[in-house]
Amino acid sequence: MATTTQHTHANPLGFIEEELEGLRRQNLYRPLRIMSSAQGPVATVDGREVISLSSNDYLGLTHHPRLRQAALDAVRQFGAGSGAVRTIAGTMSLHEELEAELARFKGTEAVLTFQSGFTANTGVIPTITGEADLIVSDGLNHASIIDGMRLSKAPRVIYPHADVTALRDRLAEARSKGGPDGKPHRLLLVVTDGVFSMDGDIAPLPGIVEAAEEFGAAVMVDDAHASGVLGRNGRGSVDHFGLHGRVAIQVGTLSKAVGVLGGYVAGSQALRDLLIQRSRPFLFSTSAPPAVAAACLEAIRVFQEEPELIDRLWANTRRFKDELPRLGFNTGVSETPITPVMIGESAVAQEFSNRLFGEGIFAQPVVFPTVALDKARIRTIVTAAHTDDMLDRSLEAFSKVGRELGLIAGSRP
Ligand code: PMP
Repeated sequence: MATTTQHTHANPLGFIEEELEGLRRQNLYRPLRIMSSAQGPVATVDGREVISLSSNDYLGLTHHPRLRQAALDAVRQFGAGSGAVRTIAGTMSLHEELEAELARFKGTEAVLTFQSGFTANTGVIPTITGEADLIVSDGLNHASIIDGMRLSKAPRVIYPHADVTALRDRLAEARSKGGPDGKPHRLLLVVTDGVFSMDGDIAPLPGIVEAAEEFGAAVMVDDAHASGVLGRNGRGSVDHFGLHGRVAIQVGTLSKAVGVLGGYVAGSQALRDLLIQRSRPFLFSTSAPPAVAAACLEAIRVFQEEPELIDRLWANTRRFKDELPRLGFNTGVSETPITPVMIGESAVAQEFSNRLFGEGIFAQPVVFPTVALDKARIRTIVTAAHTDDMLDRSLEAFSKVGRELGLIAGSRP
């Protein structure tokens, strides 16, 4: 027998080492940083106290006293786990209360929660689409939307990012051609992120909705980064643009501004009923523990009762976002608290992030495959919990490292 075959038999997973080596060679290998404190604007990361610009904790709710208390009360009353999937014995009154509160908040007939935003997308898309349908998806949609489409039997077309004219063309073509058998599609589903997580730009939702209505398509928006950030009291992108009743499906996460864990689908009662019968993550994976559901419910109340948190988030966003280009950085097309500092090469982005860490600032690089190979960046997210002083110290560090690496010329005034 050939030596290579013997070698393969001795270590059938040997290719893993090679793949890792390849990642390291291309500066694409990302070691995990370990946080040993609570999440927050200042956190202990790899044993060092740093200002964090890397969480999605937009409103600082991960450590809000009301959420902590709600979680503790739920553990005392209901225990640590739910013990089953929703359809068997895992539907607790807390899950139903959370869904009713979310539906009121979003202004939809019904809401169904999932274990994560990721499973909400992979749960809803394959359930409502099949061979007779067509999914029309923005080119920069989140990985969980892409995986949801992969799990669907429906064909899909991708339109260039945020390009409403191109979207309209794709829809017009789909309507005139029909499906593979020439019959009209049962459903044309347009899917977009509400806020794009790597660039921080807002989807052109009014144009998307108009194009969809012209061709009888339904719109689904993933508001993971818009909930708690856009719209009245953080109701999301549909509320932000005044499009209530014109977007059939809103997906959200309970893991970012809500500060806990989970995802949801907001829409019609019929959609909720069908997801309960058919959606695979809902049917085959255990429901959220009581503490998670209770803390999420409290968060939705905090959104409505403490609007000053969102005001602070946006004041901080403006302060930080306006200053970075003044220092000479390219922050791309961002319009939200997500502000990328565009770098280009992965190696330089990694070095930039490491040097920032040395200055006491935790801002993670984002490299391929999350973004294109030549579009590596440092992604920053400010939160309501950052103080002016923390933001000023962060900007000073960006300025210093930017000059050290020759990325910006001037110095901070
Ligand atoms: N959709 C988008 C647009 C996201 O950015 C994310 C999180 N990165 C998700 C879905 C997944 O949400 P979760 O973390 O709750 O699974």
